[in-house]
Amino acid sequence: MKVMDYMKKYGHEQLVYCSDPQAGLNAIIAIHDTTLGPALGGARMWPYKSEDEAVLDVLRLSRAMTYKAAVAGLNLGGGKAVIIGDPTTDKSAGLFRSLGKFIESLGGRYITTEDVGTTVGDMQQIYGETKHVTGLPLGWGASGDPSPPTALGVYQGMKACAEEVFGSGSLKGKTVAIQGFGKVGSYLAVHLRDEGVKMIAADVNPQAVKKAKEEFGATIVSIDEIFDVECDIFSPCALGAILNKQTIPRLKCSIVAGSANNQLENDEDGDLLMQRQILYAPDYVINGGGIINLSLELTGYNAEAAMSQVAEIHNTIEKVIKLAKTKQISTSRAAESLAETRLQDAKRVRAMYLKGR
Ligand code: NAD
Repeated sequence: MKVMDYMKKYGHEQLVYCSDPQAGLNAIIAIHDTTLGPALGGARMWPYKSEDEAVLDVLRLSRAMTYKAAVAGLNLGGGKAVIIGDPTTDKSAGLFRSLGKFIESLGGRYITTEDVGTTVGDMQQIYGETKHVTGLPLGWGASGDPSPPTALGVYQGMKACAEEVFGSGSLKGKTVAIQGFGKVGSYLAVHLRDEGVKMIAADVNPQAVKKAKEEFGATIVSIDEIFDVECDIFSPCALGAILNKQTIPRLKCSIVAGSANNQLENDEDGDLLMQRQILYAPDYVINGGGIINLSLELTGYNAEAAMSQVAEIHNTIEKVIKLAKTKQISTSRAAESLAETRLQDAKRVRAMYLKGR
């Protein structure tokens, strides 16, 4: 892959390779855009099959973080870290301390937090080397696990989509198919169960499947079948690139609304969903609850203020839908337009300020 060409095309500022054989660390940090502030984004641990796969993932994820912060109205940029390794077997305190040293060397341009494969405990190790880490334990005056606020934001976003499609925000009696019953998927299920939603779930992890079935009464299907089930809302809460030319024609839902990052394999897949008259809640808008919650950690955490800010995702999704309808474009393009407008405005203000000095 031509990394520099990709970075120029999508506006990435920096890519940092981190190697520490003694600590068993192979990681890559990407800083996409710091126009609005320091780049905040999680550290993902995943057994990538190749270095190219890891690089592409970190570049794509960091860009989505820029847009996520921009549409959420936060003064933060977009960044991400990926650790190449299996989170079930390759973790050690030394590995996370080592990553912490690399993050510290960036002087605050990148702030990390949890992501797929990493936990609050891992962030505590990183904190041993740098203060540029969020998602620390609640008891430390920090914001804790970002999954519950992320799930709350997804739930609010779903209701905004339901208002548009079904004429009411109530989800009572509706069927939601959840792909990935992990942290966000299961916290989302609590809101859905409370509102009388029927659930269908699929997960690769037998423990997650057991939880979905026994605690939430979900109907279980295989990880392939989840794309074909009849439902009102399909909720991708596992990994990215699952909405594509192969899967979109199979969907039998009216809404796609879930937490996974980078759900569209290609930008055009948002248009494909629109053609199928499926309302898509753009991933980085609907899953912004975690970062909104974390952002308050930087200025002094207050849980109540955080939750009411997260609930604003309902309004942001409404705004995206309205813009998409006005401009006759897909919701994914409308969200991009909202984010780009905020970024370009900030760039213009900065240029004017620098000119005036
Ligand atoms: P998680 O690891 O707890 O859950 C993911 C679940 O998906 C796991 O149970 C896993 O077994 C399952 N899974 C993996 N591959 C699958 C497949 N092919 N089919 C079905 N299930 C599969 O992660 P999470 O924190 O719940 O995050 C879920 C998604 O939401 C990720 O894409 C993450 O980047 C995104 N996200 C999470 C947060 C957060 O606060 N945790 C915030 C924003 C975005």
